[in-house]
Amino acid sequence: MRVSSLVKALLGIEHVVVEGVRFESATLDRQVLVVRVRPTRRASARCPDCGRRCPVRDAGDGDRRWRSLDLGSTMVYLEGPAPRVDCRRHGVLVAAVPWARHQARATAAFEDQATWLAAHTAKSTVAALMRTSWRAVTTMVARVVAEARDGADRLQHLRRIGIDDKSYKKGHKYLMVVVDHDTGRVVWAKEGRDQATVRAFFDALGPARAARLTHVSCDGATWIHDVITERAPQALICMDPFHVQQWAGQAVDEVRRRITREAKAAGQSVTDSSSRWALLKTPQALTGAQQASLAHIKKTNGRCSAPTSSRSSCGRRSPSAASTAGPCWPASSPGPPGPGSRRWSSSPRPCGPTRKRSRTRSTPERRTGGSRRRTPTSRP
Ligand SMILES: [Zn+2]
Repeated sequence: MRVSSLVKALLGIEHVVVEGVRFESATLDRQVLVVRVRPTRRASARCPDCGRRCPVRDAGDGDRRWRSLDLGSTMVYLEGPAPRVDCRRHGVLVAAVPWARHQARATAAFEDQATWLAAHTAKSTVAALMRTSWRAVTTMVARVVAEARDGADRLQHLRRIGIDDKSYKKGHKYLMVVVDHDTGRVVWAKEGRDQATVRAFFDALGPARAARLTHVSCDGATWIHDVITERAPQALICMDPFHVQQWAGQAVDEVRRRITREAKAAGQSVTDSSSRWALLKTPQALTGAQQASLAHIKKTNGRCSAPTSSRSSCGRRSPSAASTAGPCWPASSPGPPGPGSRRWSSSPRPCGPTRKRSRTRSTPERRTGGSRRRTPTSRP
């Protein structure tokens, strides 16, 4: 195999003529490999926007360098000409090169690898591994995603979706995120956390595709339900099991507090400090004192232990769909029950889209009745 063919295969570049390879000293103790390249005649003098062959205007700013994939521990740069072309449609632009995207300072293979890594780990880790900057990784990801997004309609064939908000950075900054439950992929996201943002998703989806939605999972926010009811009234709104458990925990605590109040009003002493968490935590997570407290409550006060049993079964993991899914109701119905209401426990119906989510939220901490927006300030 010729050296040029070997270099092209190792660096993942095509339609390129390798003119030479040399080492250069980057620092006192480190050398970099510089590969001198030029596009093949067929790939040269192309407009970066439309890809047409165009007349060469001038040599531009002369030679450029593009960071390429490392060879072992050695950093590699491609060096080649970057002339300007005069496109009839797009004007004077730097000519496209077959090894890199327009305006990129790294080869397409390098950007693809950095983007793949960024999808699986922190950008700072990617930057350290690829020996580039955090900001450069961000730019590469944006460029690769923009290229992949061109011509791809991710809102096609949606049937069962999930809508939720996600906080980012510090303060109250939120993204509305829509996932396709059938593929498990994020299909839409936008900054904001209000009805206008949810409506923007349905605007992008269009009425015809919205009419084909069968299930929409979301949390207990009625402002999301209102938009779903307005834009996709035929879809079943599926309650996120996390919030169902949260409401159940609040209902249990309400009963406990009422009974405690009544006992105190009747002149009885209430000294069991373990009762609160004995009722709220899952049986597997109870301490010895809490187990004793729960046994005592069951023995002496059925009113309090009954809702606890209902809440525990609500969050129990089991192969039965009914126990892992939240309740569903048609978008055109009045909507979900509020916190403290008894309707939360009314016959949850099996709902596929929420099953996957219930697994991820079934950690011992989350099964205790909701930790994300839990109000108690301390926990034993
Ligand atoms: Zn053009």
